Amino acid sequence: MTAETSELGQRDLATVWHPCTQMKDHESLPVLLVKKAKGVWLEDFEGNRYLDAISSWWVNIFGHCNEKISQAVRRQLEQLDHVLLAGCSHEPVIQLSEQLVEITPAPLTRCFYADNGSSAIEVAIKMSFHYWRNRGQMCKTRFVNLSNSYHGETMGALSMGDVALFKEVYQPLLLDTITVPSPDSFHSEPGETPQDCARRMFSHMEAVLQKHHEEVCAVIVEPLVQCAGGMRMYAPEYLSLLREACDRYGVHLIADEIAVGFGRTGTMFACEQAGIAPDFMCLSKALTGGYLPMSAVLTTEGVYEAFYDEYENLNAFMHSHSYTGSALGCAAALATLEIFEEDNVIDANRKLSQELAKQCARFNDHPNVVDVRQCGMIVAIELAKDKATREPFPWQQRRGLQVYRYGLQHGVLLRPLANVVYFMPPYVITTEEIRMLVDVAERGIEFAVRGEGQGR
Ligand SMILES: *Cc1c(COP(=O)(O)O)cnc(C)c1O
Repeated sequence: MTAETSELGQRDLATVWHPCTQMKDHESLPVLLVKKAKGVWLEDFEGNRYLDAISSWWVNIFGHCNEKISQAVRRQLEQLDHVLLAGCSHEPVIQLSEQLVEITPAPLTRCFYADNGSSAIEVAIKMSFHYWRNRGQMCKTRFVNLSNSYHGETMGALSMGDVALFKEVYQPLLLDTITVPSPDSFHSEPGETPQDCARRMFSHMEAVLQKHHEEVCAVIVEPLVQCAGGMRMYAPEYLSLLREACDRYGVHLIADEIAVGFGRTGTMFACEQAGIAPDFMCLSKALTGGYLPMSAVLTTEGVYEAFYDEYENLNAFMHSHSYTGSALGCAAALATLEIFEEDNVIDANRKLSQELAKQCARFNDHPNVVDVRQCGMIVAIELAKDKATREPFPWQQRRGLQVYRYGLQHGVLLRPLANVVYFMPPYVITTEEIRMLVDVAERGIEFAVRGEGQGR
C-alpha cells in the first residue's frame, strides 16, 4: 500500500460512516479506495483493477463513465441543472415520462418522481392508501408483503420488507404488515417445478386476501427475484395469480421493480414475463444507468383521477422531495433508454446470460453448493455446510465475507449476501470477463468453504 492510499484510508475512517457496514470490520479490512472507473472495471490508487461484478449495488448497467451517458449529463449541465418540479417542468422530465409510459405495461400512464428507491416505495404505499381514502374506503390501512422481501430502508419501505437483518431492531417503530410465505422455489418440494411451487404457495396469499381484503390497501412484491433476500427466485405464475386475485378482492398490486427492472431478468421489466400490469410500478437503480439518484412511480389513470379534484376537497397528493425530477437525472435516464433502443440490449443480453449459465454449471456438483439459480442477468450460488441436509454454515463464520476478501485480492468486486455468492454484472461485460469472474469466484468459494480465511 502506498503512503497516499494509506493516508486517504485513514482520513476516510476518521469521518465517513459507510452504509450497511459494521465499521469495526475496517480495522482489518481496508476500504477499497476507487480512483476511477471505466466500463466494468474499477481502479484503485495503485492501478489495481477490480471487475464490478455487482454493478455497484445493481445500479450500473452500461459500465462506468459510459460515453453516451456522460455526454448526455455534460450537455444537460450546460442547459439546466435542476429546478423544482412543483409548478415548473422541463423537457427532460417530459420526455422521460413519455418514454417510461411507453415502455411499461399499457395501463400505467402517470409518472411521479422521487430520488431513491426507498422513497419510491413510500410514494407507492402512501398513494395507494390515499387512493382508497379519496374513494371513501377508510378501513383500508394495511399492506400485504412476502416473507424474505426487501423494499428499502426508510420506515415505510422497511415495514414492507421482511429481512430480519435490516428490520428486526426497528420493529417497534414500523407499520404492521401482513406477511405471506414467499413462493421462493428454493423451498419447493421434491419433484415440484417452480410453477407448481408458485401455485401451491399462492393458497396462502388467497387465504390472507379473502380474510383481510377489506382492510388491505395493496400487496407489494419484488417480481420474480427477491434480490436483497439472497437472490431467491420464483415463477411468473405467482404474479399472474396475484394480479387476478388483487382485482377480485379490490386490492392494489405494487410491483417493486427497483432492482429487477431495466432488463435484469431478461425482459425490460420482470412483470412482462407474467404478462401483467401492476397498479404501481416502482423504478430506480438502473433507471439512470447508475449515474444519479432518481426514482419513478408509475401508476394508472384510475389512481390519478382519484386525486384530481377541486382544491377545496383536499384530495391532492401532497408529497414531494427536493430533487424530484432532477433534470440531470432525467438526462442520464434518457441516455440509458436510448442505449437500450440502439444497442438492442435485451437481445444482446441473452448471449451473456447463456455464457453465465455455461460458466456457472461447474458449481452444481460442488459439495458446499446447495443451489445455483439464474434469472436473466442474475446468477446466485448458495453455499451451505452440508449439501444433502442443506444445513447452513453458522452465520457467525461469515463465509461470504471470505469470498469477498478473496475476490478483492484477485481483481473482482463481489459482495455476497451472507452465504449467497451472486453475479449481477453490467451488461457491457464480455464473455471473457464472465469467465474470469467465475474463475475467481470459484477459487474464492474454495478458499471460503475450506475455512482458510476463518475469523478475521
Ligand atoms: C435497492 C432496493 C430498494 C431501495 O432502493 P434505495 O435506492 O436503496 O433506497 C427497494 N426495493 C428493492 C427491490 C431494492 O432492491
